Amino acid sequence: MANRRRVIAGNWKMFKTVSEAEDYAIKFLEEVKDVTDLDVVLCAPFTALHALKNELEESIVHLGAQNMAWGEEGAYTGEISGRMLLDVACTYVILGHSERREMFGETDQDIAKKVQQALAVGLTPIFCCGENLKLREEGKAAEWVKNQVDSALSGISKDDLKRIIVAYEPIWAIGTGKTASSNDAQEMCANIRGTLTELMGPASENVPILYGGSVKAENIGELMQEPDVDGALVGGASLDPLSFGKLIKNASPM
Ligand code: PEP
Repeated sequence: MANRRRVIAGNWKMFKTVSEAEDYAIKFLEEVKDVTDLDVVLCAPFTALHALKNELEESIVHLGAQNMAWGEEGAYTGEISGRMLLDVACTYVILGHSERREMFGETDQDIAKKVQQALAVGLTPIFCCGENLKLREEGKAAEWVKNQVDSALSGISKDDLKRIIVAYEPIWAIGTGKTASSNDAQEMCANIRGTLTELMGPASENVPILYGGSVKAENIGELMQEPDVDGALVGGASLDPLSFGKLIKNASPM
């Protein structure tokens, strides 16, 4: 019987100054202080991480970044290393988000190197994959997502693979208000688990697979009923502490 962690991660994208982040943290902690059966992660902009470290210390909320460099350290102007993230108490990092792939030219190879580096320093990668609308309409979504998973993860040892989280994020559902049906989310998350099984064997049963794409307080409950959907990566609906708190409570009926 699978014993998977359930995870709800917020992705603030390029929103919130330091003082806005601090204000959010105070309100959010009040909302989620009684949540015990879910891992809650806030993936904030780099500039807010240090302030959030202080606000979230000893709380149930984990801290994550939205990107990191594949290099360890060195002459990489403008980049942030995994060790720097650990230093501000990050334990998670989103890698391969479609906005980074589409707008900043990140390739499967870049993402594979970033996943390796994150694992090497002890961060948990939240590895994102997902198809665009054209691929879905052409019936090529499953093959596309399988290739993304294979290229990013096939070079990683079985032991390290056990430490990742995968987020299935169909691009047509991100920030559009269109959510994949819970059946579609389940189908792709089960496919991803099949690909992970080919890579790491039965240990894939313990890898949390999240759905992301216009998740809200109103639809999280239905998504969480699906056997292979272990949580959500939430963009827009994570920006307000009260409504994100409500979403988390709806994901974790007590
Ligand atoms: C995301 O940014 O990963 C995301 C899923 O965004 P949204 O929830 O706004 O669709």
